[in-house]
Amino acid sequence: MSLTALKRQPAEQLATEALKESILAGDLKPGERLTEAALADQFAVSRGTVRTALHQLSRDRLVVLTPYTGWAVATIDRQDLWEIYTLRSSLERLAARLAAERMNDDGRARLAGVRDAFFAACERADVAVAVDSDFSLHRTIVELSGNRRLLDQYLMVEQQIRLFINSTYASAPNLSVAIAHHSPIVDAILAGDGEAAAGHSEHHVLSEGERVLAMVDHAG
Ligand SMILES: [Zn+2]
Repeated sequence: MSLTALKRQPAEQLATEALKESILAGDLKPGERLTEAALADQFAVSRGTVRTALHQLSRDRLVVLTPYTGWAVATIDRQDLWEIYTLRSSLERLAARLAAERMNDDGRARLAGVRDAFFAACERADVAVAVDSDFSLHRTIVELSGNRRLLDQYLMVEQQIRLFINSTYASAPNLSVAIAHHSPIVDAILAGDGEAAAGHSEHHVLSEGERVLAMVDHAG
C-alpha cells in the first residue's frame, strides 16, 4: 500500500461517517438527490473521496445509485419495512436468548440502568429521549449477547429503521404501552430465562412491525 493510499483512508472514513450522520439525523431526507460535486464542496474533500463514501453507504442501503439519475438517499417502502422487521425479529430473538444465557452482575446492572432511563422518559412523556432510549435498550441487549457479528447485522437494521423514521411516514411512538411491551423482555433476560426472553423479544418486534406497516397503509 502506498503512502498516498494510507493518507487517503481517513478522509474516506470521515466522509462516510459525516454523510451517514447527515442521513440518519434527517438533514438529508429519504429520496433527496445527492451530487458528488456538492458533497465534495460541503465536506471539503475530493469527488473521488465522496464517490468511495457513497459506494460504502450503498452497501448499507442508505443511498442508492440509479442509472441516468445518479445518487439519492434511500427510501423505505412497504416491502423494505417487511424485510427489516422480519429480519430484526429474528436477530433480536437470538440476541435476547444469548444475553439471558450469559447474564452476570455487570450485565444486569447495565441493562437495568438503560431500562430505568427509558421508562422514566416514557413516564414524563419525553418523546425525543424515549425514542433514543428505545434504540439504546435494544442495542444494549444485542451488545450483551456477546456476539459481535450479530451486533454488526443489528446495527445495519437499526440504521434502516432510523432512515424510515426520517421519512414522511414518521410518527410518534406509543409511549403509553412502551413499558408494558418492554418489561417482559428485560425481566426474562435479568432472570436468565433464555426461552422467555427470545419469545417476548420476537413478539415485541413483530407487533411493532405490524403497527408500523398499518401506519404506512393508513398514510398511503
Ligand atoms: Zn422497543
